[in-house]
Amino acid sequence: MANIANQVAVVIGAGMGGLAAAGALSDFFGRVIVLDRDKLPSEGVPRSGVPQGAHTHGLLVGGLRALQTLFPGIDDDFLEAGAVTIDAARDVRVERPGFDPFPARTLGIPFYCLSRPAIEFSVRKRVEMLGNVELRDDCRAEELVPTADGRAVRGVRYSATGGDTGTLTADLVIDASGRGVPTLDFLNATGRPAPLETVIGMSMNYVTAHFAVPRDAPDDWKGVYLLPKAPDTSRGSLLLPIEHSRWTVTIFAGHDDRPPNDDVGFLAFARDLRVPTVANALISARRVTPFSRFRFPGSSWRHFENVADFPGGLLPLGDAECRFNPVFGQGMSVAAQEAVLLRRLLERAQGDLTGLAVPYFSELPAMLDAPWATAGLDLAYPQTQGERPPDFERQMRFGAALMALAARDADVHALVLEVTHLIKPRRVYREPALQERVRAVMAEMAAPAAN
Ligand SMILES: Cc1cc2nc3c(=O)[nH]c(=O)nc-3n(C[C@H](O)[C@H](O)[C@H](O)COP(=O)(O)OP(=O)(O)OC[C@H]3O[C@@H](n4cnc5c(N)ncnc54)[C@H](O)[C@@H]3O)c2cc1C
Repeated sequence: MANIANQVAVVIGAGMGGLAAAGALSDFFGRVIVLDRDKLPSEGVPRSGVPQGAHTHGLLVGGLRALQTLFPGIDDDFLEAGAVTIDAARDVRVERPGFDPFPARTLGIPFYCLSRPAIEFSVRKRVEMLGNVELRDDCRAEELVPTADGRAVRGVRYSATGGDTGTLTADLVIDASGRGVPTLDFLNATGRPAPLETVIGMSMNYVTAHFAVPRDAPDDWKGVYLLPKAPDTSRGSLLLPIEHSRWTVTIFAGHDDRPPNDDVGFLAFARDLRVPTVANALISARRVTPFSRFRFPGSSWRHFENVADFPGGLLPLGDAECRFNPVFGQGMSVAAQEAVLLRRLLERAQGDLTGLAVPYFSELPAMLDAPWATAGLDLAYPQTQGERPPDFERQMRFGAALMALAARDADVHALVLEVTHLIKPRRVYREPALQERVRAVMAEMAAPAAN
C-alpha cells in the first residue's frame, strides 16, 4: 500500500466522520493530525461538540461493515463496551402503517446496539492506537489557509485552549466538522460560490432519555421502531437496548410538533401513538438520565462537486457534505462509508493527491443515492419544503407495494433490509422479475379505489 511518508493530513473534527477518515488516512500519510474543539472525554459519555450524542443512534449494518474495513475487529470492541447484538429483522418490533407489527423473521442481519458516545469512544480508542495519528483535543480549527495562488488549501490555522495558536501545514485537509463551516468560509474567502444545496425541509424534534430495562420487560422484542403514518402524523418513537442494561428511548415529531420532555408528557405522547408498545414497556421502567431535546433543521446535500475550481487539498466528509433526517439512522454509516471511499481512492492515487477531489465527488452520488432516497420520504408531508421528483406519487406507491411484498416474502424482506442498511444499492429494485411482482401488488392495492 502506498505510504505518503513525508506528507501530512489534517482532519477537522473527531466525531464519527473524522475518526473514520483518520483510520483511512493513516494507511497512506506519514502523519495524520485530528483536531477537535472539545475536550475529548476519557470514557464514552456525551460531549458538547456532538449535542446529538445523547440521542438514540442506530449503527446500520452497512456502517458497521465500513468501520470493520477501517478498523478490523471493531465489533469486538463494541461488544466489550457492552453492545447488545440483535437480529435486525427479528428482534426489533417494527410498527409501520398497515403492519403493526411488520412480520419478524430471522434473516441473519446482526445489529449492534450501543449509545452514540460508546460507539464513538470505541472508534476513538482504535484511532489512538494508530502510531502515526495524533489527536489534539481542545483545539479549534479557526480557518483554512490558502496557497499563495488561492487554488488550494495548504494548512489549518488553529487555536487551542490555553492560548496556543498556530498553523498546521497539510497536504490534505478533511473537513469532518459536522457543519462544514471551515469549507464554506474558505470558499467565500477565496471568492468561490457557496455550493448549491438540495434541501428536504422537514425539521425533526427529538426527545430522548435512558431507562433501566425493567425486570418485566417484554420477551418478544428487544427494540421498537414506530414509523409515523405520513402525511397524517409525523409522530413516532424508537427504543433500542444499549450498554449497562439500558433502553435508549426517543420520541419524535416533525415540523412544529414538539414532543414533551417531562415524565408525564413523555409517557402520554408514547401512549397516544398508533400502537402504545413503548408506553406499555415504560410503565415500570426507571428513567436514569435527564431528558435531552434536539431540533434537527432538515436533510441537506451540499453539491460541492459543482463548485467551479473546488480547492485542491480539501475534502468535506460526513454531515459537512450531506446530512439526513436522523429518524432513518443513516448519518454515521454514510460518514464511515465515505471514509472507505476515501481509502479506496488513496489506494488508487498511488501517492498523487492532485486528482483526488474529482473521483471523490463523482463517486459520492451513487453512495448517497439510497440514504437520500430514504430521507426523501419526508416529502410525503405537504409542509415539507423541497422539490418532489415528477414521479413522486408513483415512487411512494412503489415503496408501499414493495413493503407489502416484503411482508409476505422473506427474500424480498431481506433485500429491502439490505438496501435500508446501506449494504446494497437501490438499483437492485430494478431487477425485472421483482419489478413485475411489485407492479402486481400495486395493482392489487389500487383495486379497491377503482371499485
Ligand atoms: C438527534 C440525532 C440523532 C441521530 N441518530 C442517528 C442514528 O440513529 N444513526 C446514525 O447513523 N446517525 C444518526 N445521527 C446522525 C449522526 O449523528 C451524524 O450524521 C454523524 O455524527 C456525522 O458525523 P460527522 O463526523 O460528520 O459529525 P459529528 O459526529 O457531529 O462530529 C463533528 C465534530 O467536529 C468537531 N468540530 C466542529 N467544528 C470544529 C472546529 N472548527 N474545529 C475542531 N473541531 C470541530 C465537533 O466537536 C465534533 O466532534 C443523528 C443525528 C441527530 C441530530
